[in-house]
Amino acid sequence: MGIYRAYKFRLYPKEKQRILIHKTFGCSRFVYNYYLNYQKENGVQKSFNLCKDLKELEDDYEYLKEVDSCALRCSIFDLEDGFNNFFAKRSGYPNFKSKFSRQSYRTSLIRSTYKGKEYSNIEVDLLTRFIKLPKLGKVKIRGYRDKERIEGKIINATISKDATNKYYVSVLVEEDILIEKVTPTSIVGIDLGIKDLVVTSDGIKYGNDKVLMKYEKRLKRLQRKLSRQVKGSKNYLKTKEKIARIHTKIKNYRKHYLNNIANEIVDEHDIIVTESLKVADMFKDKKKAFNKSLSDACVSTLRSLIEWKCKIKGKFYYKINTYYPSSQVCSSCGYKNSKLKDLSIREYDCPKCGTHNDRDINASLNILLEGLKLHYNLASVF
Ligand SMILES: [Zn+2]
Repeated sequence: MGIYRAYKFRLYPKEKQRILIHKTFGCSRFVYNYYLNYQKENGVQKSFNLCKDLKELEDDYEYLKEVDSCALRCSIFDLEDGFNNFFAKRSGYPNFKSKFSRQSYRTSLIRSTYKGKEYSNIEVDLLTRFIKLPKLGKVKIRGYRDKERIEGKIINATISKDATNKYYVSVLVEEDILIEKVTPTSIVGIDLGIKDLVVTSDGIKYGNDKVLMKYEKRLKRLQRKLSRQVKGSKNYLKTKEKIARIHTKIKNYRKHYLNNIANEIVDEHDIIVTESLKVADMFKDKKKAFNKSLSDACVSTLRSLIEWKCKIKGKFYYKINTYYPSSQVCSSCGYKNSKLKDLSIREYDCPKCGTHNDRDINASLNILLEGLKLHYNLASVF
């Protein structure tokens, strides 16, 4: 089975390389914006046609020829993804990129043969700690000390700069590995939510992390501050930089935190079941709207982390659709209790069978039951 894995290295470009990286950021952005505007006026077109047009654009804007042409084509593909996501209603209409958006460009692997020898434009050498990148040549990297080489086929590389002026390269690799499915001996249902990020059918709860909440609060405060400051002033730019730093902190911390949770769950269980979408009722609570975006991002990341870890560890992962809120059905007897629409009821005794239920654990038990049916092809109760 082919699985994708990304290796992210810290990148140490020399002055000349740094200048070229910045030029490539700018040119990729220019191409992206140019064709976004072009398609706004002329309708959406196949990226194949735009890539052909790019050749002419390069003649009009000579400086485009200085940078990696593959990166420019990647901009066109990214834009096409943006439009595809928009048409599939997964995201809004593509936006123009500004100097203040994320600074990055992607370039993909091209192989060539010369005099019987094979060459590729991206190569990673972990022994000498260098990466070969198109136009840039060899750039020093750091990371993955314990590895001697990267297994698998390199697909592409993304070069980026963060708010604190550090450079990175993320190398996407396709590995062909043989994974044997485990014989399941344990199953867990997982309720993903707002009050607690994760509640498992074993009764384990993972809260929304305190540190993360603290960062979010600080971020909100700085954003308010920014809105009161004079655009472009010295203090405005200072606040803006602080905001960017916090964004990076939040991103890194969240990744680390969610990874730990996903590891714990996948290591301990063989069949893992979550809901595919959260039933809308839980978002009606206005007080909790503050945390909604935070928790939304965590929930979807966590779901994909669990899915990916299950895949590479040969475990089973199911996403179930619950058309009926899983927290309103008693996991013991199946009685549907509409009084539980009131989200303030956290614990209750089932009026039919008398079982004492914790709202979220009960929900995760229902999710487990649904997953069990999926795994063994039984009929649904919902
Ligand atoms: Zn009951």
